[in-house]
Amino acid sequence: MIKRDGAQTSLWQGNIQSYIPTGKADRHAKYDVVIIGGGITGVTTGLLLQEAGKKCLLVEAEELGFGTTGGTTAHLNTLLDTPYYVIAQNFGEEHAKHVAQATAEALNLIRSNVTRFNIDCGFQEASAYLYAQDADQEKELEKIRKSAEDAGLNIGYVQEIPVNMHYTKAIRAAGQAKFNPLEYIQGIAQAFEAAGGVILQQTRVINVTEDDSMKVATTAGIFSTTDVVYATHIPPGINLLHLRCAPYRSYAMAVTLEDEAYPYDLSYDLYDPYHYYRTQIVNGQYYLIAGGEDHKTGTQENTDQCFRQLEAHVRKHFKVKEVAYKWSSQYYEPTDGLPYIGYLPGYEDHVFVASGFGGNGMTYGTVSAQLLKCIIMKETPVLEKLFDPNRIKPVAGFTNFVTHNTDVIKEFFGKLFSADELKQLADLAPGEGKLVTYRDRKVALYRNEEGKLHALNPTCTHMKCDVKWNQSERSWDCPCHGARYNYDGKVITGPADADLEGLALS
Ligand SMILES: Cc1cc2nc3c(=O)[nH]c(=O)nc-3n(C[C@H](O)[C@H](O)[C@H](O)COP(=O)(O)OP(=O)(O)OC[C@H]3O[C@@H](n4cnc5c(N)ncnc54)[C@H](O)[C@@H]3O)c2cc1C
Repeated sequence: MIKRDGAQTSLWQGNIQSYIPTGKADRHAKYDVVIIGGGITGVTTGLLLQEAGKKCLLVEAEELGFGTTGGTTAHLNTLLDTPYYVIAQNFGEEHAKHVAQATAEALNLIRSNVTRFNIDCGFQEASAYLYAQDADQEKELEKIRKSAEDAGLNIGYVQEIPVNMHYTKAIRAAGQAKFNPLEYIQGIAQAFEAAGGVILQQTRVINVTEDDSMKVATTAGIFSTTDVVYATHIPPGINLLHLRCAPYRSYAMAVTLEDEAYPYDLSYDLYDPYHYYRTQIVNGQYYLIAGGEDHKTGTQENTDQCFRQLEAHVRKHFKVKEVAYKWSSQYYEPTDGLPYIGYLPGYEDHVFVASGFGGNGMTYGTVSAQLLKCIIMKETPVLEKLFDPNRIKPVAGFTNFVTHNTDVIKEFFGKLFSADELKQLADLAPGEGKLVTYRDRKVALYRNEEGKLHALNPTCTHMKCDVKWNQSERSWDCPCHGARYNYDGKVITGPADADLEGLALS
């Protein structure tokens, strides 16, 4: 099993061993590109650049697939969460066509990688079905269908859907697919290494600075490079993109069925947030994967309740034998509906980013790799302007983009807190966390299974919002920009670089 950024185990991580790199990073060498992050975006970008002749180093803080790629549900779509009519409204009809083309090319790259590198990742072609359940949804369905067709998708009305749900109208988009994301990225990582790329795991990048060349400071030393790609899902430090990407949590489960009525294709209802269903065979076992119940990170008091609601919904419509896996994970919703891929705002040269994928990061992570490879190889790609992160007007004051935000809030430090008083005040069950007010201060408290209390300053080290407890994933989540910390304050994901401050207990 591999590690992931949450306490629950996903279907993918529970059925795979950690990737063991074969190469060794050289601190005396100069790399052409350092790629930060070992999810689908990082490994695919690494492969394309390495194959194009660049000398690449991929640095991952934990292990490959630790981030959202290990907690995704891995539908491969060109029918996107942002409907094409919204893309057309925001960017024009021609650009809606470009998005459809770019996502179709990304799926083609995944298809060709699976064949070329013989990646055993359960890849299957599929169709996507969207269904309306009332008259209002029918209107929305027609807008989605028409705009997707105008953008170039093969889409039309159908009389049947793959799941046993009430519906009034339904459409089917051809040319979609599904796979096991961790098996896929491990296959890509192998191909990257075979092409000469180097992977460094358990190594966090803590700073990137520029003098005569880029210097990437990591927990394993400093590396020199010409270009840097932040494939970290959201860039670290304080960046304009944090104002343009809202963090959301989404819930998924993999269940086995009594009646073996596993729906082959991909199905989606039209609620907001929507529910979705698909099947994947993992180690010879069929699983129905269902998801939904999304909410803005840190806004749901009782995250266990989200799982209960999802499970109740799935049990209502399927004959569930066993809930084998349930997990939640985080994605970043862009304000205008398209991801941000290209030069990191505030940096004209050498520092790149890919972020804001919403629920389509398998596809957009691959689009990012294709686009970033073209930009870095100076191939003047057509889509550079459309996905440009600098399409956002820079805001005064956001200049220090690449310097990571390592200012730890010092105000609590050195103060002694009474463990007994805090314990009484919080009345925590083992395994529970809570924000409490103690002597006019907010304190983030967690009691572990053995009864030991962990007390933290709840001020997020990123931009100083208060973190909230996420009971199901046992993490402190920041509602502002999605930084997440372990029960003991260690950064696990998101834009923060520094851990939450621990409080001394008497
Ligand atoms: C529940 C859920 C379901 C989803 N379903 C789908 C779906 O069906 N189809 C789809 O297309 N998309 C889906 N998505 C979205 C998609 O999974 C993500 O957009 C995608 O996985 C992001 O990949 P990534 O490589 O960019 O980031 P990640 O997979 O998050 O990888 C980033 C990596 O960077 C590393 N990192 C971060 N900071 C540092 C640092 N300072 N130094 C070194 N390493 C660092 C992290 O450890 C992490 O491993 C879903 C998302 C969720 C939450």
